[in-house]
Amino acid sequence: MRNLLNSAVSGAAIVAQGLFAALFPSDCRLCGIPLENISRLPVCPSCLLAMQLISGETCDICGERLPGLQRLSDLQTCAACQEARPNFAKAAAYGSYEGDLRELIHLLKYEQVAPAAGALGKMLGEAIDKLGIEFGAVLVIPVPLHSSKRRQRGFNQAELIARAALKQPPMAQAELATDVLERRRPTVSQIGLTRPQRSQNIRGAFQVVHLNGVSGRNILLVDDVLTTGTTASECARVLRKAGAKQVWVATVARTLKNSTASFEIEPEFETAAQSS
Ligand SMILES: [Zn+2]
Ligand SMILES: [Zn+2]
Repeated sequence: MRNLLNSAVSGAAIVAQGLFAALFPSDCRLCGIPLENISRLPVCPSCLLAMQLISGETCDICGERLPGLQRLSDLQTCAACQEARPNFAKAAAYGSYEGDLRELIHLLKYEQVAPAAGALGKMLGEAIDKLGIEFGAVLVIPVPLHSSKRRQRGFNQAELIARAALKQPPMAQAELATDVLERRRPTVSQIGLTRPQRSQNIRGAFQVVHLNGVSGRNILLVDDVLTTGTTASECARVLRKAGAKQVWVATVARTLKNSTASFEIEPEFETAAQSS
């Protein structure tokens, strides 16, 4: 009873908070300037405008930034993809996982600013555009969280962003599936691991639970951030093993080599520092 009462009270508090934010504009949560307009998303237009598409030449498979500004061949790939091709056909991201874009993702994930999903969903839509795929028969699968993590956070950010992206016209025909792929165990930190160790670490973490849901289908896997690509590649591996035809990957952001804030931390593992 007490729990019920508590959750009713905190539910009411969240609604009241949202209402308050809508009626009384606050400061931009990213740069701190006072917001002029009433908006559900407490981020100013210039911060949103600063979140740009990745520029320059990128790997045709994983989307990593390549040195050099000119396209040298029809298929250009980074050294990592040449060494070991990922299990997905192609991955595309909207922007670099740093600065304001990183902060916006954190607002959604760690501070429960739900309206951030709308802005991130639009960016995911642009990443999906880069893949140049037909939406008719595509099954969209958000990378799942482990049930313990989902309970702790209360939502899967990849799913919220995917739902926002699918509200846009060309993608409205695509089908969203949140119950075919499951994360069977929480994965441990990938920090400091070599590429083969990372693959080993994540192997067996995902399972397709509805085989007939993916057999013969083209899949678009979506997530908020792609870091090393190991997670996406492992998801693609199990989906293809379950009979999926092609697997593409779209994310809002991606860690890039030569960016000002390049690091190899799976975003999932920043939680401890961010949620306090
Ligand atoms: Zn701002
Ligand atoms: Zn690559």
